[in-house]
Amino acid sequence: MHDQVKLEKEVLGFWKKGKIYQKVVESVKDGKPFYFCDGPPYATGQIHPGTAWNKALKDCVCRYKRAKGFAVRAQPGYDTHGLPIEVKVEKELKISNKNQIEKLGVESFVQKCKAFATQYIGIISEQFESCGVWMDWNNPYVTYKDSYIESCWRTIHAAHEKGLLHEGVYVVPYCSRCETTLANYELEYGDEQDPSIFVKFKSSSGKNEYFVIWTTTPWTLVSNMAIMAHPVYTYVKVKVGGETWILAKDRLDYLMSIIGESATVLGELSGKKLEKLKYLHPLQNKIGKKCERKVILSDEFVTLEEGTGLVHCAPGHGMADFIIGKRFGIDAFAPVDTAGKFTKEGGTYHGMPVREASEKIIQDLKEAGALVHSGKVLHRYPHCWRCKTPLIYTATNQWFIAVTKLKEKMLEQIDNCEWHPEFAKTRFKEFVSSAPDWCISRQRYWGIPLPIWKERHSGHVKVIGSAKELPKMPELHRPHIDKIKLKAKDGKTMHRIPDILDVWFDSGNAVWASLTEEERKIFPRTDFIVEGKDQIRGWFYSLLGSGVLLNNEIPYKALLMHGFFVDEKGEKMSKSVGNFVPLEDVTGKYGADAFRLWSLSNTVWDDLRFNWEEIKEAHRSIGTIYNLGVFLSRFCPLGRKPVLPALDELATEDKWLLSRLFATTKACSEAFEGYQPHVAAKALRDFLVEDVSRFYMKLAKQRIDEKKGTCPAMAVLYKAVLDSLCMLTPVAPFISESIYQSFYRKREHKESISLLAWPEAEKAHYDALLERRFEIAREIATACASCRQKAQIPLRWPLEKVRVVSESTEVLSAVEHLSALVESLSNVKSVKITKQPKSTITVSVNKSKVGAAFKKESQEAILAIERQGPGAIEKWISSDEKEFLAEGKFKIQKDMVEVSETAKGYEIARFDGGKVYLKTEIKKPLYEEAMVREVARRVQIMRKEKKLVESDKISLGIETSDKKLSPILKKHSSKLASQVNAEKVSFSKGAGFCKQWEIQGAKLAISIEKK
Ligand SMILES: [Zn+2]
Repeated sequence: MHDQVKLEKEVLGFWKKGKIYQKVVESVKDGKPFYFCDGPPYATGQIHPGTAWNKALKDCVCRYKRAKGFAVRAQPGYDTHGLPIEVKVEKELKISNKNQIEKLGVESFVQKCKAFATQYIGIISEQFESCGVWMDWNNPYVTYKDSYIESCWRTIHAAHEKGLLHEGVYVVPYCSRCETTLANYELEYGDEQDPSIFVKFKSSSGKNEYFVIWTTTPWTLVSNMAIMAHPVYTYVKVKVGGETWILAKDRLDYLMSIIGESATVLGELSGKKLEKLKYLHPLQNKIGKKCERKVILSDEFVTLEEGTGLVHCAPGHGMADFIIGKRFGIDAFAPVDTAGKFTKEGGTYHGMPVREASEKIIQDLKEAGALVHSGKVLHRYPHCWRCKTPLIYTATNQWFIAVTKLKEKMLEQIDNCEWHPEFAKTRFKEFVSSAPDWCISRQRYWGIPLPIWKERHSGHVKVIGSAKELPKMPELHRPHIDKIKLKAKDGKTMHRIPDILDVWFDSGNAVWASLTEEERKIFPRTDFIVEGKDQIRGWFYSLLGSGVLLNNEIPYKALLMHGFFVDEKGEKMSKSVGNFVPLEDVTGKYGADAFRLWSLSNTVWDDLRFNWEEIKEAHRSIGTIYNLGVFLSRFCPLGRKPVLPALDELATEDKWLLSRLFATTKACSEAFEGYQPHVAAKALRDFLVEDVSRFYMKLAKQRIDEKKGTCPAMAVLYKAVLDSLCMLTPVAPFISESIYQSFYRKREHKESISLLAWPEAEKAHYDALLERRFEIAREIATACASCRQKAQIPLRWPLEKVRVVSESTEVLSAVEHLSALVESLSNVKSVKITKQPKSTITVSVNKSKVGAAFKKESQEAILAIERQGPGAIEKWISSDEKEFLAEGKFKIQKDMVEVSETAKGYEIARFDGGKVYLKTEIKKPLYEEAMVREVARRVQIMRKEKKLVESDKISLGIETSDKKLSPILKKHSSKLASQVNAEKVSFSKGAGFCKQWEIQGAKLAISIEKK
């Protein structure tokens, strides 16, 4: 019995004990180098099945390359720094803000983070290993090691040398809980309900005029510095109550409809005319900031899709606002502290968390008579990717890498890489085109310290590129490095910028930081990376930025992008949602090979939907392949490697299988070369399960059986299974290795299947015409099977003949050449190509379909169809024509009619290219043959129950008083004996194992005894 889970344990043990991975690596060490760089996952517990899919993709490419003789560098990596770990440690320590961390001590906190990041590495490596992933598990790269940190410093140093590192005030997304900025690609968008308010700002002209603006962040009104208008749009002055309001013409109806007022238009003016008009802040007496506020123009940030066409501008709290503010020299006023609360400059709101202050501000606006309308809006809003707090945008002092200066080179370098699929490249270019400067500083603890020292007064800066430039310290993390002070040229003391690096910077340097000094010379770039589509904003980007910065080059030569792993409905799988299926649940039940075969068959860049049925199906396929191994072991002569005879000594089906093997080998090799493992996985599964096991075995089994495995069919089967197992190894390494060990190893002599070279596709075996003819023969056999089903005649009953009617020369010549194959597949005595036999064709019209299409004229249409005559309709239905024009007027579709054909004594079925007429009448000799087979089948069942093997002889006893069955069996007793390997047949109650049966209403008792 096939027990895949047990089989995998044995194979894992064999690999470990025999150091097979090391031997395979050793065997290709002189080959062409191939550097695969692992995108490092976080080691924070159990692995997600999506991560297992990701690693299986990596593994199957590396295994393929090794089989092709490449010296593959496959070092796994782990991401260990950053907020994900800090947040988990804070939870463990039951603390929730930076003050508590400082109180506990940074040293102690950092050590806890380090311990946390380390504890799971071994466990996770083992999980990957048990999925058959072959990498250097004893030597992973870990981002917190000093050598890794130094490598990242080198890049920062290079940025400084090239004038690409700068400090500046910038509006960045900020998490008030984590008290740190986040990069654009760390934002997690989710629905959030916020206020949606319309506010009027009184003009300073002294007239009763107001500018109407709209905002969903009332708290930013505290920092309002200007109003933006579009220079070209048309604005209107309207009379509402006793006041004059100004807003965009196209937004007037909308505003009036939500406030339920009517307005009289007093006049129109272009946005340009609004420029420099001054206004008063409605909360001036509540806020501290006094300044002159006016209307400014912007054609890029004012739209007519929402709001009023007049945009509230707070340069301290919006990216667009900041850019415009800079252009007009407006202060980026941001009265918010590091904890996200208003500072003293926030006036009456001092001390309030900003988002919570919104309600109070709305109340104050109402009291000031400035609130036009207050509602709610549900919109997509950015949240902190770790703690899910809604973010705020605020102007802070940060360090940047000037990506905008590198952008041209980055975009150009994107073409210097092979992209799979091509659309990943398009999406990536779009993302890179709009990327702002990279904010690399984070105000946290557990990460690579920023290697920047600064003298407070002169602003003089020194950037360190190597630890050798610093005094010795226990490790390069905080707080040790914080204590180091450097001397500026003028003798003044320089202090380190207390920030750490954005954790994406760590993995962005993986291509070099994971290598040794010597390796860096061999591998300026990695040959291949593969990650999910979310990495367009993540790793693909941080790698590109760092690579162009350091070496003027994109650091990867080929990239494969995979989809998301989602649940059956397409939703993200996560523990908190409750739709999570642990990997062990799958592999513990069906084995890692089933998971791999299933997941690797999914088109790489499509999302992979979890599906138990499909995994079960993959497991069944693995079982079918396992049985091929069992068959080979049983029938192949001991210790002998069958030699493939010359082509002309082979039977047609042998030639066909070799041709299919050629096509499969070619398809697989091309698929792996083009980084499309799913194409290879599907081709191999089809070949082994459908072509070899379900089809070829049916035809060749008897020959192999009779010749005790010494016939050409065994040699063909031997080669077909060995070559395809070699190619299946990257996809399902366990079953491939297991069959190799139990059967092939003593004949092929290499210690593991992974030590065999990738098979060559043998062109001489290719025969396209033969493959096409087999395809047709299989279609005809399928049509015959459907006839049998209609007539309820089992396949094991031989029938007299089948007639094939076709106008296709391809079909006719296939039947001519492969008549014996069609006969054996359909279990008929003869197949004949004939003209259309006499038959009755009836056409029934689907009245509801016709009615729906022709309405009033449907009655006329039905008559028109009927007048065509069944022959013409039948001919059209069998053709490729989609429509039939009845009487020059009615376009008839195929679903409007149903054609049925009957012929006396026959069942009829269609196939692609023709029809079959299966003769269903059973004459006496055929009936007798069928009865013998029915009895033989039952004897075989009993032999199986008694666990007899084919070569065991039996004596057979049959007892029946049925007047019809008894003489038939007596007449054919020698035939029956040979079918079940019986020495003799007696027609009385025999000795041994006895069972009662019923065949076509006749009762009989069968007994068998081993001789
Ligand atoms: Zn946070």
